[in-house]
Amino acid sequence: MKRIRTKHGAPASFSAWLKDNKEELGRKTEDEKVTGKHLWNFFRNSGDVADLRKVLVSDQGFICCYCGRRIENDSNTVIEHLHPKSKYKSLALHFYNLLASCQGGSKATVHLVQEGENLIGIAAKYGVDVGHLELVYVSIDELDYFQNKYDLENLSVGERLVIFPRSTGQEQHCDTRKGNAEISIMPTDDDCEEKFSYDLFDGKIKITEENAQTVKTLGLNANKYLNRLRKKSVEESSYLKQKLIEDFGHAKEEFNEKRLRLIKGYSEITDENPRLSPFCFVITYGL
Ligand SMILES: [Zn+2]
Repeated sequence: MKRIRTKHGAPASFSAWLKDNKEELGRKTEDEKVTGKHLWNFFRNSGDVADLRKVLVSDQGFICCYCGRRIENDSNTVIEHLHPKSKYKSLALHFYNLLASCQGGSKATVHLVQEGENLIGIAAKYGVDVGHLELVYVSIDELDYFQNKYDLENLSVGERLVIFPRSTGQEQHCDTRKGNAEISIMPTDDDCEEKFSYDLFDGKIKITEENAQTVKTLGLNANKYLNRLRKKSVEESSYLKQKLIEDFGHAKEEFNEKRLRLIKGYSEITDENPRLSPFCFVITYGL
């Protein structure tokens, strides 16, 4: 779990929508029959969800708020309520209660194949076996279907999509797994990253008394693809640490300087580096 810091606050379109609908929202909030879900759907049906999602995804460096896998501002990503809207109606439309989460394997995931990509590379990117991937060429007859189903407005005939299937219930994670539950460690907590450590052997989070509820509620150890991706990051971290020792182990000050620079590079979202590496907190943990 990566500590999330909101950089820009709510997007102008979201603030404007709240202002334009202030009276209606006031009425709905006071009405006991209106739930947090109703309030959220009111925004979803009439506000700019994609713009809000764009800001959340960008503030998180394009990684899921819980598991840390890559997310984009597309239909594979959902807006998550940190404090569930079913229990905290007043937080249903509170910007600081909103995060961007992967859909936790609840739907088939779609990847638009880019120039130079191959199936093996795409499978590695998602931690999936090649055999699980379905390659689709978009024909003129199916263009509308794929555009609507996967929210790919700019999709063209002749492009290729790779689709991999949804996970079974037991393997689902993040927003989907969490449902209306609450978690004891939140990505907005200053010290959240310190509460997780990782197993080199299987990539799983090491369970402690403190993190057990959060790991279980979010299904963070439940999905084999997720564990596989995390394991790769643990291995990358070990490699980087080893290299650091080989190159600078003889000079303590230089070693520390290079180590801190490496950690900074993996942790910070900047204008030059707006996208964090997936599972960057696993890599920095090992350094
Ligand atoms: Zn996730």
